[in-house]
Amino acid sequence: MKVALVGIGKIALDQHVPALNASADWELAATVSRSGTVPGVAAFTRIEDMLAARPDIEVVSLALPPVPRFSAAEAALKAGRHVMLEKPPGASLAEVHALEALAREKGVTLYTTWHSREAEAVAAAKAWLAGKVVKSGHITWREDVRKWHPGQDWIFEAGGMGVFDPGINALSILTEILPVPLHLTGAELDFPANRQAPIAARLRFAQGITADFDFRQEGPQTWDMEFATDAGGIALRMGGNLLEINGKPAGGENTIMGEYPALYARMAALVRAGGRDVDLRPMVLVADAFTLGQRVTVAPFEF
Ligand code: NAP
Repeated sequence: MKVALVGIGKIALDQHVPALNASADWELAATVSRSGTVPGVAAFTRIEDMLAARPDIEVVSLALPPVPRFSAAEAALKAGRHVMLEKPPGASLAEVHALEALAREKGVTLYTTWHSREAEAVAAAKAWLAGKVVKSGHITWREDVRKWHPGQDWIFEAGGMGVFDPGINALSILTEILPVPLHLTGAELDFPANRQAPIAARLRFAQGITADFDFRQEGPQTWDMEFATDAGGIALRMGGNLLEINGKPAGGENTIMGEYPALYARMAALVRAGGRDVDLRPMVLVADAFTLGQRVTVAPFEF
């Protein structure tokens, strides 16, 4: 299948292009970006021009930041193309509901991807937790925004989600593996005095789970979650890639290189089956954190 990749930035070049090039399902047939290109691939700067010029391209994959993504997704769906969305799937919940309705009306695929759910140990953790009672849990998601998002000012604009840009990856794993539905009861959000989105957040869930997200982590980076259950302890480390049961290594592999190939394999299967996969549970938790969260003003932040 031919796919057009929109938003040729960090994640497009780090993950989408290598995953597409390595897949037998896909041909990267065009890019859309104001400045980015991929050598040897037809390049457009406006999605409307690509959609008009290339009716042979059935699928559009959007790797733009969330705020500019909606209008591109809407244009692609209106043109009858199947659409794959980077995480978070939108800047607001309602715009993703609108995209889902449009995809249904047009009879095309819409896939809200959650790449961290494809991490090496997530499926095994989900299988182990099935049928068990989770008594408590804690998520620690601490990374250095300067290292992972250098100069990306959009992340601290309204709609950029701040520390929830990585934190939503933890929530995507959590909503996938827990055997019960989850809801938020409280949050504290640290907003730099000069920014519109939080740089750190502490969350509490009704199910005895807490989370600590921080974008100011220097030195070792931490993407861990630990749970106590009625049948012992389980931990996922390194962003869902390594599993521990009762304190002992229990599988996984510390690599993120399988995540995007798995997303594109799922998209190919959805298109072939005429299916849609729209899961907003991680984003509902983020929206509720903004609704319930106490705002704390902290030191200004510059990249
Ligand atoms: P990025 O490099 O800052 O942006 C991607 C591209 O989108 C840019 O190169 C830019 O291309 C285009 N763009 C940016 N702002 C735009 C605007 N206002 N209007 C139109 N186009 C705009 O961001 P990224 O890190 O790749 O992240 C993109 C998405 O992928 C985010 O939702 C993020 O959560 C997700 N993601 C990122 C990572 C990561 O490690 N960075 C990992 C997983 C998922 P042009 O200027 O050339 O048009």
